[in-house]
Amino acid sequence: MILPITLYGDPVLRKVADDIDLNYTGLQELIVNMFETMYNAEGVGLAAPQVGLPIRLFVVDLTPLAKDEPSLQDFKRAFVNAKILERSGEEELMEEGCLSIPGIHEEVFRKNYIRIQYFNVEGLSCDEIFTGYTARVLQHEYDHLDGVMFTDHCSPLKRRLLKRRLTDISKGITSATYRVKVPRI
Ligand SMILES: [Zn+2]
Repeated sequence: MILPITLYGDPVLRKVADDIDLNYTGLQELIVNMFETMYNAEGVGLAAPQVGLPIRLFVVDLTPLAKDEPSLQDFKRAFVNAKILERSGEEELMEEGCLSIPGIHEEVFRKNYIRIQYFNVEGLSCDEIFTGYTARVLQHEYDHLDGVMFTDHCSPLKRRLLKRRLTDISKGITSATYRVKVPRI
């Protein structure tokens, strides 16, 4: 089932999300729905607050990028109760977008190496290292669990320039081609 995606300005996107019980009711169905919602919107990652739920869950599918990066061939995963234990390496600048901020793309600095602990879709505890683009996507989604949007990482000047467009998005004025939930603010 395709779920509506919350837009910039929705209070749920600014909450620090809570860990969930691994027996969280409907977890498997929610993960399936989040993947379906993400594919429908042509995204590579989606966090639970983006479908209105303040819980520490996000999904990522990087397999469309496998033709340039063969190691991503099977990279379709759900991350439950993730915790980034380490961020290091170089700060890399790369353009990002977000399904909750349709039409805005800006360059953001992120570390290119992370170590992350999480539970996978089977409830198994994992502790892994990711680098490069994968580390970037995981940090973007992880930020959503802490109420952080990628535009928060832009310079104060850039944020000032974006303010009008972000306000428009929060009023539901967007170019999104997928189902969205307009914030009630
Ligand atoms: Zn996002």
